[in-house]
Parts: sequence; structure tokens; C-alpha cells
Amino acid sequence: MPPSPIQPTVPFDEDGTHHGFLRLPYSRDDSAWGSVMIPICVIRNGEGPTALFTGGNHGDEYEGPLALQSLARALDPARISGRVIIVPMMNYPAFAAGTRTSPIDAGNLNRSFPGSPTGSVTQKIADYFQRHLVPMADIVLDMHSGGRTLDFLPFAAAHILPDKAQEDACTAAMRAFNAPYSVRMLEIDSAGMYDDAVEAQGKTFVTTELGGGGMSTPASVAVARKGTRNLLIHAGILDGTPELAPSVELDMPDGDCFTFSEATGLFEPLLALGARVEKGAPLARVWSADRTGAAPVDYAARRSGILVSRHVPGLVKTGDCMGVVATEL
Ligand code: ZN
Repeated sequence: MPPSPIQPTVPFDEDGTHHGFLRLPYSRDDSAWGSVMIPICVIRNGEGPTALFTGGNHGDEYEGPLALQSLARALDPARISGRVIIVPMMNYPAFAAGTRTSPIDAGNLNRSFPGSPTGSVTQKIADYFQRHLVPMADIVLDMHSGGRTLDFLPFAAAHILPDKAQEDACTAAMRAFNAPYSVRMLEIDSAGMYDDAVEAQGKTFVTTELGGGGMSTPASVAVARKGTRNLLIHAGILDGTPELAPSVELDMPDGDCFTFSEATGLFEPLLALGARVEKGAPLARVWSADRTGAAPVDYAARRSGILVSRHVPGLVKTGDCMGVVATEL
């Protein structure tokens, strides 16, 4: 395979803190020999495990970037053993535009793995993670939230994996992150996900959904900050004692967790996040958006459990995910 066009401006094997960029050449109308500059920070102190922490895989999710910006400034290399690689705004063009996908190529980075060194800008970013950053890591954290169209209860998640020793390591890392909720997560559309790419390389992987609506809250950012620090302690990279609080463990066993709209209209949430719902009970209602007098359509939960995610915008389209119900373990 051809080499990646991305050049890091920081060393990966020197002690200390190095702030810089992953420079990706991107020739365009307003900059003939221009570049996409993806911020990166590498903090190293001697031998030890490597953690790779990312945010901004989707550009409209903010807890990850906020927690990682502060971590990159606060982490003292003298207090760590090993290395922490921090990329707070992984799909930088999407982050800069405040959108889920890249305005350059419409690329959804989390559906672009393993990527390509000769593909689109988003595919080139995926390829650099796939072949350069992930292989350096022992433990990988990728922080997501709901973005502009979904909102989530704050949770860390681990996936069910064929290698049970790896699944146990991921579950232990998820518990160390210690979000208010911990979820054994089913992906509805896992092809091309960073999650799968990292897990296929045998790494310990934790992902999160920490809020959403295209914004953050003091509480959701606090979950992200505590989780990153706890995870570094768990990995044996940072000294200190993890800050642990009770976490509700949830399961997403199959596709019945999801309720999708089959109508376009005005969205009425019938349940708040965290509310308990019985199978068959309505969780959302869709009203006509263009006439009075039409009966609304109710959409039911397809299993009993707790509402962990909801649709955000006031209007809903056919096919939108309106709610996700997870069961208590
Ligand atoms: Zn996301």
C-alpha cells in the first residue's frame, strides 16, 4: 500500500509534551499547496503503555474535544509512565464546520475505516489512524456524543467481541471510565467503524455517548474529564486513585432496542432520557406538520427498559431514530 500522505509535526518517541499537527496535504481553490491541520498532542515519559484518546470523530460532538483540550494542557509528563496520544478533533474539517461529516468530501469518519492513503480526505485520515496511530496504542478511547440530532444518557460502552479475554479487558476499561451508565453496546451499522478497526487490532477499546444536541453541559463535560483521568490510571500510565461512583449497567441485546419513525412531521417526545418504559408503550408521537385535524401517530418501545437516547430536532423524518431502549443488567 502507498505511504500515508499525512506528516506528523510532533515526535512520538521523545519524552515531554509535544503539541503539533497531523498535516494532510489538501490542494484546493483557496490554497494551492494547502493542508488540513489536525491538532495532536503527544505526552511521553519513558517506557510504558500507550493510550490513544480521540474526540471529534464526528464534528458536532463536544465532550471529547473539551475533555481532551484540558487533558493536553494539564497532564504532567513527570506523573506518567508511557505515552498518551491525544487527538481532540479527529475529523478536523467536520469539527471546524460544526457538522457530523466532513464538508470536504461528505465523509463520515466513523464509517470510513480502514480508509485509504489515496482516497478522499476523510479516507486518508482513517488510513493514518488504521496504520500508524492505532498500532502504537495499547488502550484506545474514542469519545462520542449524540451530535445535533440525538441526545444520550451519559454512558461508556464496550462491545461484545469474539475474543472473550479482549472483551473482558474492554469491559474493565469501560467500568474504569465510570460514566453514570455503562452499556454493553450493539452497533446498528458497524461497517467501516473506527471501533471495529481498533478491536480487530486486538486493542482494549472504550467508546462513549456522553450527551448530545450539538452542545455540551457542565455535567457531561465533567463525565468526560473524570473518565479520561480514570482510564489513564486504569491503564497504569498515570499515578493516582480513580474517582469511582455507582454506574448503572445496561445491555443493548438486539435491534429491538431501536425505534425508527415511519412518518415525517412534528416530533413529540413522550419520555425523558432515563425514564423506564414497558414494551409496547409509546415513547414518541409524530404530529402532522402541515394540517390540523390529522391524528398523530404513536411509536412504541419494542422492548422494556430505560430510554438511553432520543431524537433531538423538533421535526422528524421517515427513517430517523426516535429512541433507544436498553435493558438493565
Ligand atoms: Zn459520534
